[in-house]
Amino acid sequence: MKVIKCKQCGIEIKGGFYNTPNGVFCPDCWEKKPKEVKDKALSDVLKGMAMLGKMVSE
Ligand SMILES: [Zn+2]
Repeated sequence: MKVIKCKQCGIEIKGGFYNTPNGVFCPDCWEKKPKEVKDKALSDVLKGMAMLGKMVSE
């Protein structure tokens, strides 16, 4: 089984984590990130999903 480690603090993540365009973060580190970083990552994820949806529907 693959171990997921937080990109920032390096701890092994058990349970929930944030898989962002910048890497995988534990919830603790992610919550400490500036709002701009979180908003940017979220918009990138949404863009990716929108593209995926477009490909599927065509
Ligand atoms: Zn962390």
